[in-house]
Amino acid sequence: MSAREHVDVCVVGSANLDLVARAERLPAPGETVMGTDFAEHPGGKGLNQAVAASRAGATVAFVAAVGHDNAADVLLAVLADDGIDASGVRRVAAPTGRALIGVSADAENSIIVVPGANALADATHVPSCTVLLTQLEVPVEQVEIALRSARAAGAITVLNPAPAAAIDASLIALCDVIVPNEHEVELLGGVSRLLAAGAGSVVVTLGGEGVDVHTGGTMHHLDAFAVRPVDTTGAGDSFCGALAARLAAGDDLLTAARVAAAGGALATTRHGAVPSIPTVAEIVSLMQASAG
Ligand code: ADP
Repeated sequence: MSAREHVDVCVVGSANLDLVARAERLPAPGETVMGTDFAEHPGGKGLNQAVAASRAGATVAFVAAVGHDNAADVLLAVLADDGIDASGVRRVAAPTGRALIGVSADAENSIIVVPGANALADATHVPSCTVLLTQLEVPVEQVEIALRSARAAGAITVLNPAPAAAIDASLIALCDVIVPNEHEVELLGGVSRLLAAGAGSVVVTLGGEGVDVHTGGTMHHLDAFAVRPVDTTGAGDSFCGALAARLAAGDDLLTAARVAAAGGALATTRHGAVPSIPTVAEIVSLMQASAG
């Protein structure tokens, strides 16, 4: 892989194309129902968080794996639109990751996620970065390689342990910041276990209840920004991307978490994941409005 310039944030993670079919009701096993509407959306926590970091003002490189298919072209176009360095997105011999999502009229859903190419993600060549941000939608060995090499190179390492899964203490010890939501932190054994295992700081996101930042032996609670949520999809990813961008810009963790909370709040005010991720101008404007 060719050498790239230093970036503020490198995201190692998943890229998926979400295929969403709406129907009056979801089919039972063996049944076919007629749908009313279909749409494709870019997704995957890795891709969402790369877009969020970029919109929050960082230079971003994304390391991921996609297939040799049209879905990959769609995802690469999304990355290009947001000015993200995609030279670390490899084409591999597996279909691009997809989520097949059925949504009923009463908003029940059923989802099949096929990781496909994401299972072949390779973090051996992580570019030089100020902050490394990763999640658990690519194989955990690759997450570990990414965190270990970034830390060795002096980067700030940030893990969003989502989707919720138990992880080894050795992986936790490689993280300067771990950002779980309330369900994930419980599955991981609580904040005290994460700190005891060697995480530098723990930032627990609490949806509309805000954020608890555990750092330097103290817990600081940040209230959520007051918004009118219409769809909470993408809130966590917007938060993580903005947090990484602000840490790369030199903010301390509390300041970065406050900006990230504004990013997460704004993401709830619009539908979808990528379309709802706010720009730095929107984040600044919400923060100014809330301060005044
Ligand atoms: P996840 O999507 O990973 O479960 P959260 O729901 O905790 O993540 O959301 C991440 C952050 O986004 C929260 O800590 C909060 O700052 C912001 N946020 C989420 N939901 C709301 C909401 N209803 N109102 C205001 N801010 C929100």
